[in-house]
Amino acid sequence: MRFDIVTVLPGLLESPFAHSILQRAQKKGIAEIHVHNLRDYSTQKQKSVDDYPYGGGSGMVMTIDPFARIIEKLKSERDYDEVIFMSPDGETFNQQIANQLSTKTNYIILCGHYKGIDQRIRDIFVTREISIGDYVLSGGELPAAIVVDAVVRLIPGVLSDETSALSDSFQDGLLDAPVYTRPADWNGYKVPDILLSGNTPEVEKWRFEQAVERTRKRRPDLLE
Ligand code: SAH
Repeated sequence: MRFDIVTVLPGLLESPFAHSILQRAQKKGIAEIHVHNLRDYSTQKQKSVDDYPYGGGSGMVMTIDPFARIIEKLKSERDYDEVIFMSPDGETFNQQIANQLSTKTNYIILCGHYKGIDQRIRDIFVTREISIGDYVLSGGELPAAIVVDAVVRLIPGVLSDETSALSDSFQDGLLDAPVYTRPADWNGYKVPDILLSGNTPEVEKWRFEQAVERTRKRRPDLLE
């Protein structure tokens, strides 16, 4: 799987992909993440990538040209499954969308800034618009990192325990059951006996019941 992320702040995306599971996925060659500086595709003398909004009003708008140039260059090199624009007015990201994205191969992700991007970029090039929630951030970089993280960890071979993504919250329509590790007794706070029993079917049954109970209490909407 390959992600090409287009941004005016490439530095913001250095750290999220340089650690832990995302770093390992890249080292194993399972995922490639390329971050492109939009300014490199500006033909303006100041390398500017934004301009005043037509019709007036506050905030700058990102211009078409640099986006068109990088998108066309990338598309001439390989086929892309989607050109994604991170945007608060897109479809709200969730596990189901992450699952869908994990089944395809090549993605371009555009990060907006300022007031947003010229609508024509969205009309002409963008095939999917994703929001990470009903709040506004200052740029699309953190949202892009969230989408890449959620998708890459689903690719077979990325997580060391193949089954662990399947039991995560939302994956089976339920929140995850509570988890415990050593010590079994911490200052009188004990781990549930069943987890120490070694009886796998009973442990599974307990986990399922806990997951249902937790979902009923915290996210009854998931059970509807
Ligand atoms: N004026 C725009 C917000 C611009 S915020 C509006 O009201 O819709 C600047 C950029 O940050 C956006 O173009 C987008 O790329 C990114 N962004 C902000 N909040 C986001 C969110 N919740 N999900 C995804 N991207 C977001």
